[in-house]
Amino acid sequence: EDRLSSPERKIEDIDAALRPKSLDEFIGQEAARANLRVFIEAAKSRSEALDHTLFFGPPGLGKTTLAQIIARELGVGFRATSGPVIAKSGDLAALLTNLEEGDVLFIDEIHRLNPVVEEVLYPAMEDRALDLIIGEGPSARSVRIDLPQFTLIGATTRQGLLTTPLRDRFGIPVRLNFYSVEELEKVVHRAAKLLGLDIAPDGATEVARRARGTPRIAGRLLRRVRDFANVAGAATVDQKTADASLTRLEVDSIGLDAMDRRYLHMIADIYKGGPVGVETLAAGLSEPRDTIEEVIEPYLIQLGLVARTARGRALNDRGWQHLGLKPPAGKEV
Ligand code: ADP
Repeated sequence: EDRLSSPERKIEDIDAALRPKSLDEFIGQEAARANLRVFIEAAKSRSEALDHTLFFGPPGLGKTTLAQIIARELGVGFRATSGPVIAKSGDLAALLTNLEEGDVLFIDEIHRLNPVVEEVLYPAMEDRALDLIIGEGPSARSVRIDLPQFTLIGATTRQGLLTTPLRDRFGIPVRLNFYSVEELEKVVHRAAKLLGLDIAPDGATEVARRARGTPRIAGRLLRRVRDFANVAGAATVDQKTADASLTRLEVDSIGLDAMDRRYLHMIADIYKGGPVGVETLAAGLSEPRDTIEEVIEPYLIQLGLVARTARGRALNDRGWQHLGLKPPAGKEV
């Protein structure tokens, strides 16, 4: 619910409309889906709640979507919140005590839980119980309240951001990976159909190639391409229309945006290709370090443009090539 009050609201609403509703409808992440199918089936056959599940991976890959799908496939209720929104342990206690038997509680950005709140979560996850302190001073005593069976689904960008005790309490850790172009083509075709937009196969390929391996970005680019096509009076989005629109949006041939290029240029132009520390880059780009490490870098590293080394970030051959630059003498990788 917290998301509804954020400036992202409109985007989230459209995102919600595009969300696949079942594991069969969900595109890609084959291994994760196959495993989840088994675990869901097994939990249902034993009439138990599904084990606590942790999704980790870059933003926009389908963590929230999968959490909703799991609740639907289990036939249970779905409650959503996020780490930073739960300010006090009382807030979490209220959420937990309001759950119904078997419900899914989804906590986005679970690595950003306040440590005091996190402590409340441990017994809740492990023993499905809540330890509350009643009273103050010498008369204070602890009361244990039983909770209904429930499944906690946490989402985070990197598994390593979680504290060990929290990480250890998830029975089902699931890593989400960037999508292939073929998978994103399917995402684009599906979204186009839902938007009532006519798109040619080469148009879908173009959007998919430039979506940074991310379904959410594919959906956003498609909506902007639709705007350009509408204004140009094009009935069908083909490769040419898609390419022209994406170029105007400053999305380059391999899907990098202006921020990605600023990052690459900072390493190339100012630090001669690196290595340079992430804090230095964050300061230079005026971006939080988290954004750099969790949003910008994973895709650039996956493409092999940049490497994370012990001494900092360094541009690879491919990075120099993509910028159309030559590494300075002595820096050939
Ligand atoms: P995350 O929680 O990882 O940031 P979301 O679950 O919110 O990502 O997904 C972002 C958007 O991408 C959603 O609107 C959803 O429609 C779309 N999406 C994500 N994964 C898929 C998929 N596998 N198939 C189709 N659409 C997807």
